Amino acid sequence: MEKHMAVCPYCGAGCKLNLIVENGVVVDAEGIDGVTNEGELCLKGMCGYDFINDTKILTPRILHPMIRRTKGGPLERVSWDEALDFTAKKLMAIKEEYGPDAIMTTGSSRGPGNEANYVMQKFTRACIGTNNIDNCARTCHGPSVIGLMDTLGSGAMSVSIPNMEKADCIFLFGYNPSASHPIVARRIVKAKARGAKLIVADPRVTESARIADIYMPIKNGCNLAFMNAFANVIVNDGLMDKEFVDAHTNGFDEWWKVISKYTPEYVQDITGVDPATFRRAVHMYAESPNSIIGWGMGVTQQNQGVKTVHTIAAIACITNQIGRDAAGVAPVRGQNNVQGSCDMGMWPSLFPGYQKVADPKARAKFEQAWNLPEGFLSGREGFKLTDVPHGAKSGEIRAFYNFGEDPVQTEPDSTDMIESLSKLDLFISQDIFMTQTTALADVVLPGTSWGEHDGVFSASDRTFQRFTAAVPPKGECRHDWEIFADLSTRMGYPMHYNNTKEIWDEMRELCPNFYGATYEKMEGTGHAQWPIPTLDCPGTPTLYKGGQFTTADHKAILMAHDYIKPTETPDEVYPLVLCTVREVGHYSCRSMTGNCRTLTALADEPGEIHMNPADAAARGINDQDIVQVKSRRGSVYTRAIIDDRINKGAVYMTYQWWIGKCNVLTMHQVDPLSGTPEDKHSACQVIAL
Ligand code: SF4
Repeated sequence: MEKHMAVCPYCGAGCKLNLIVENGVVVDAEGIDGVTNEGELCLKGMCGYDFINDTKILTPRILHPMIRRTKGGPLERVSWDEALDFTAKKLMAIKEEYGPDAIMTTGSSRGPGNEANYVMQKFTRACIGTNNIDNCARTCHGPSVIGLMDTLGSGAMSVSIPNMEKADCIFLFGYNPSASHPIVARRIVKAKARGAKLIVADPRVTESARIADIYMPIKNGCNLAFMNAFANVIVNDGLMDKEFVDAHTNGFDEWWKVISKYTPEYVQDITGVDPATFRRAVHMYAESPNSIIGWGMGVTQQNQGVKTVHTIAAIACITNQIGRDAAGVAPVRGQNNVQGSCDMGMWPSLFPGYQKVADPKARAKFEQAWNLPEGFLSGREGFKLTDVPHGAKSGEIRAFYNFGEDPVQTEPDSTDMIESLSKLDLFISQDIFMTQTTALADVVLPGTSWGEHDGVFSASDRTFQRFTAAVPPKGECRHDWEIFADLSTRMGYPMHYNNTKEIWDEMRELCPNFYGATYEKMEGTGHAQWPIPTLDCPGTPTLYKGGQFTTADHKAILMAHDYIKPTETPDEVYPLVLCTVREVGHYSCRSMTGNCRTLTALADEPGEIHMNPADAAARGINDQDIVQVKSRRGSVYTRAIIDDRINKGAVYMTYQWWIGKCNVLTMHQVDPLSGTPEDKHSACQVIAL
C-alpha cells in the first residue's frame, strides 16, 4: 500500500489528503493535516477519488485522441501525431483567414493545476496571439473578482479560511457553505461554538440559517437593495468609523448620494425583511470587534453581481471591518482551483499574477520573457466564456478550445449552447471524460486526471499547495501542459518543459506577488499564501492590514449603484423563480463525482427540484413525484422534493444532472459588468404529470 499526498479536486477549501494506492489502483483517501482542513474531509473529499480508476459509472475516461475528419462525421481514434498535426493545421488556417481573435480558449479550474493553466494561457497569448481566454470563474465568482479589484485592489478573499473561526461575527449573504464548502462550514460552526455571532440572509432556510443568531429570509433577486440598506443603516445609526473612512477611502460623498435613500423601510417590499430585524443585524455586524462577510453565488449570479460586491466592499470599509485576521471579505470560490485559474491569467484582461494586458509595461515584460517580438502581445481585452454562444453564431469566434470544462452542462440555456458549438469551424475539447460537451468536439484530446499528475492548486484564500501523482496516466493520456507545449511547437512557437517545476519557476519569475512561493515551501503539508513577494516572506494570510488597500493610492474606492429588478420576473405563465444551487454529494458538471461509487449511490438521476409545500399543494404535486418544469428556454422532467425550508414562490435545482438538466431552463442573460450569467433568477412553471 502506498500513500500519495494530494489536494482535494472539488471545492476551493483546499483540503489536503493522501490517496491510498494498492496494486496501481486508488482505493481510498484520508485527510491529512493541511492548513485549511487539519486532517478533516467532507463527503466528497473522502469518497470522491475513484473516478481516477475509470469506473465507467457515468461516462468512460477518454484514453486516446480522436478527430472528426469531416464536420459532423464520426469521431475516429488517431495517434497523437495525427491529432496534433490536424489541430495545428486547422488552427493556423483559421488564424490566417480570420485573425488570432477568431480563436477562443479556456482554462480548467479543476484537476489540471496551475502549471497546465499557465502553459495554456501562454499558448493562447504567445502562439495564437489573442487574449480570448477565460475560465469558469466567469460563471461563478467573476463579479467578486471584478467588484473587489475595482474597490479594494485585489479580487480575492482578504482573510484566510483558518482565521474565519476567530471572527466575532460572521455574516453569510447568499452563501450556503454546508453544501458548497463543508470544511469552511466547519470553521463557521467552530466560531459559533466559541461564541461568535452568525447572521444569515438567504431566501432558503439553509443549514447555516438554522443555527444563525439572526436569520433574514430575503426575497429572491433583492440583493443590491438589501446591501444598500445595510450600508444606509451603518451611516444613519452612527456605526461608521469616520476616521477610517477619511484616512483610507475615496468617494464617500458621491457614494452617500446614492445610498442615503435606501432605508430598510424604503426597501422592505423588495427585500421582505422587517426593519427592526434588519437594524439588529446591522448593529450586530458593525459593533462586533471583528466581522467577516462571506458570500457565494447567491450574490454573483445576478444581474447586479458586480454592483452588489461594490456595496459589500464599501460596508466592510466604512465599518473598519477589514484588514485584520478575523475581519474582512470572504467570497469563497467554488471549484478547487478557480482561484488558481485567475491567478494564472486565464482571464481576458489579465496576465498571470493579475498584471493587466492593457499595461504596456506588463506586455513588454511578457514579450521579453516569452521571446516574442516587441508589440506582439495584444492589449485588447479578449472574449469572455459567456461570449461563446453569440460569438460562435455571429462568426466572430471560429474555433473554440475547451480545456477541462463542460459548458453544455454548466452554462445557461444549454440548448442554445449546443447549437452555438455546432456553428464553429473547429471545436477542440481536452478532458478526461466524454462529457456532453466533449462528445460534440471535432478534436478530442485526453489529458491526465487528478491523481495522475503533479502540480499546485490555489485554495480560495490565496493558498498555494502542491499535489502529486499517485498512479501513472491511463491509456495514451498525456499531461495537459505537454499537449499545449507540443501543439504550440507544431504551430511554430516552440515550447518545451521537462516537468511542472520548470513551469512554476518560469511563472514565479514573472509574477512579483507569487515569487516567494517555491516548490520547496510547499513540500508535504507546506503552503504559500500570496502575496508572497520574496523568498523569505512567510506569506500573507490577511490583506489590507492598516487600511493599506492595493489600489493606486492605497485607498479603497467607495462605489454605489441603484437597485434594478432581475431581468426575468414571474408572470402568469411562468409564476415561479428558478434558482440554481449546489448539493453536498456532487460537484459541478458531475463528470468526476458521477463516476465515484459511493457518491453515485447516495444520489442519482433524475435530478431534483425543491419546492415549498404550498406551491406543491397548489399544483397537486406530492413529494418524490416526477414533474415537468418549463421555462421560456425549454422543458425537463425531474423529481419533486417538498421541503418547508424552501421559500414560497421559488424552486431550486442543482445543475449537474444529465436527466432533468436545469440549464435547459436557465436564461443566458448576464451581468453587464462581468458577463456572469443570471443563474439565480429565471422564471418557470412546475407541472404535475
Ligand atoms: Fe474537498 Fe471542499 Fe470537501 Fe474539503 S470541503 S474535502 S476541499 S470538497
